[in-house]
Amino acid sequence: MEQIKNEKNAKIVLDMIQAIHENAAYLSEVDGATGDGDHGVNMNKGFLMAKERINEEMSFSDALKILGRTLVMDIGGSMGPIYGTFFNRLSKVICKNDIVDKYVLAQALNNATEGLMDLAGAKVGDKTLIDTVYPAKEAFQKAVNQNEDFATCLEILSDAAEEGKENTKNMVAKIGRAARLGERSKGFLDAGATSCCIILKTMAASMIAELNETK
Ligand SMILES: [Mg+2]
Repeated sequence: MEQIKNEKNAKIVLDMIQAIHENAAYLSEVDGATGDGDHGVNMNKGFLMAKERINEEMSFSDALKILGRTLVMDIGGSMGPIYGTFFNRLSKVICKNDIVDKYVLAQALNNATEGLMDLAGAKVGDKTLIDTVYPAKEAFQKAVNQNEDFATCLEILSDAAEEGKENTKNMVAKIGRAARLGERSKGFLDAGATSCCIILKTMAASMIAELNETK
């Protein structure tokens, strides 16, 4: 199949929540190298709060909306509104569709990345989660334009997210707490880029599994 359904497909979001939960300690460790070491704890808290409000019977877009709203309302800090906006923007495109195919997902990723960049006030190369999501969505869009099948597009998204995240090691932080370190922020991963990579790779893997199931 070249599409997945939107209805009763909250599982994709539950998989993302589980992945953040499993990586909470790692994310705080990454954050601790250049920041205050709370990224994993904060993300895990917000994602688990959202988990309480989501069940498998919900649509993919409703689950995204609940996750987004929970992060905005209940987490705060800088990451709450940033990730909240990202998930809300994904939801807004997906909720208009009964099925999610590569075209719908490309549109949703473009919309979400745009919202994220407006809110974060960061550019590509500033050593933030944008350095994961921007190259990932660009690679996905390119694969869609080249008419690759949906699963291949998702694999390409996943690889580009990983590469983008790894590239933050070579960057000097321009924004947030790590920016105070200047050149000394080099050599370390950005925590937001790392959590964003986990989220995108998990979403891709969850969708690929479903595409294979419905083949
Ligand atoms: Mg922090």
